[in-house]
Amino acid sequence: MTAASDTPSTPLPALGLAEAAAALAQGAVTSVQLVQALLDRADALEPRLNALTWRDPADALAQAAAADAARAAGDPRPLLGVPMAIKDLLNVKGQPCTAGSNILRGYVSPYDATVIARLRAAGIVFLARTNTDEFAMGGSTETSAYGPTRNPWALDRVPGGSSGGSAAAVAACEAPAALASDTGGSIRQPAAFCGVTGLKPTYGRVSRYGCVAFASSLDQVGPIARTVEDAAWVYETIAGRDLHDSTTSARPVEPVRELAAASRDLRGVRLGIPREYFAEGLADDVRALTEAAIAQCRELGAELVDVTLPHSRHGIACYYILAPAEASANLARYDGVRYGARRGDDDLQHMYEATRNEGFGAEVKRRVILGTYVLSSGFHDAYYRRAQRVRALIRADFDAAFARCDAILGPVTPTAAFRLGEKSATPVQMYLGDIFTVNVNLAGICGLSVPCGFTPDGLPAGLHVVTPAFREDTALRVGAAYQHATPFHLRHPALDPATP
Ligand code: GLN
Repeated sequence: MTAASDTPSTPLPALGLAEAAAALAQGAVTSVQLVQALLDRADALEPRLNALTWRDPADALAQAAAADAARAAGDPRPLLGVPMAIKDLLNVKGQPCTAGSNILRGYVSPYDATVIARLRAAGIVFLARTNTDEFAMGGSTETSAYGPTRNPWALDRVPGGSSGGSAAAVAACEAPAALASDTGGSIRQPAAFCGVTGLKPTYGRVSRYGCVAFASSLDQVGPIARTVEDAAWVYETIAGRDLHDSTTSARPVEPVRELAAASRDLRGVRLGIPREYFAEGLADDVRALTEAAIAQCRELGAELVDVTLPHSRHGIACYYILAPAEASANLARYDGVRYGARRGDDDLQHMYEATRNEGFGAEVKRRVILGTYVLSSGFHDAYYRRAQRVRALIRADFDAAFARCDAILGPVTPTAAFRLGEKSATPVQMYLGDIFTVNVNLAGICGLSVPCGFTPDGLPAGLHVVTPAFREDTALRVGAAYQHATPFHLRHPALDPATP
């Protein structure tokens, strides 16, 4: 788009974050126009997608009008008036925050999460809340109290999870970008399933203050966007030390947006290929796409080296002990006293039981029971303590691998998006889908998912770029060089009404 009078070459909902910022800066569009176009699109698509759990047109348009007024008065902030959708796990003052759970129905955030405060300071408009598996526990959004989100590429398939609403909303052009969270793959797996870009930053790089806690030694907040550059811009805006989250690092946040925008080749970059990630269990179609993406990276000048991550096969077992253990502690606070819903308040014990029994869904209960079990006296050493030791071995594997390479490439998921209902009756099948993502959280390092093509069924797949702690710059550089050489991120799902 060049000027207000020109016919826009890109329909408004299809503008990415940087494109929207440029169009606003040029005066080619107002924030109110952009927000209205996105709201209209959501009205048309939501009956089928269910990616958004809440939106208030009057609220979004009022934010947009304020941004337009500020811009007219000379406010130069580049993201001023750009809309984003926010996972229903992050507190936005005055908007509901329910973590996809009935136990938080009716809860309205009294404050902004730190990441939201930073986006607000940059001028972002908070457009809508996105669907999530309940308390981010799941890989399909099917455990949400709002019902499942559907994959925009195939409405009978899941969008992944837990941030399936964020990924589907971005893929379907209901928002240029979204915030999400990743405890064991919840940014990268839905990004891969929906053909968009997702970044899980290093543990300690982004504040979790105001993010509903699932497993506190694993949780990270990050962006889902349509390009690596857009993801880099959001990341750069939200990252850095926060006195409200003592796990955040004081290391300065390196500027990465321009690095991503300019990245065109991979000369001088060593990319590690872990043989364990191409073993049994990886679907042939996803394997072929991943191998083609790796070949493309070599063409761009990267040197490929073999690496080994021998303990990664224990990642699922380790994660599904540690994450439920931490969740059982974190979810103790939902007792009917402090937040949201309350049931059966005749006597205290009954009130706790009734509130938690009615408020939590089956998967959350399963995790709380599992977590309580592995922490109970007599079992603590056999499970929890041992899982901690395995976690140290997984981390050491990555340290050894990164002595030989700058980034590790592999698949994000063992298969493309599965059908709704296909795995919801067999939790272990669902958990096994996290095989490539959980190790990155257990090691506390950085992982990026970049679209790397489509299966013969027309379903997207993601290339996983994993880098050492605090090397988001390398992940984004590699992902952007690959993305600039490939067309996959430019395709939109054919959704009626009209593909944007
Ligand atoms: N699918 C994983 C789980 O169910 C990861 C979820 C997440 O990253 N929030 O725990």
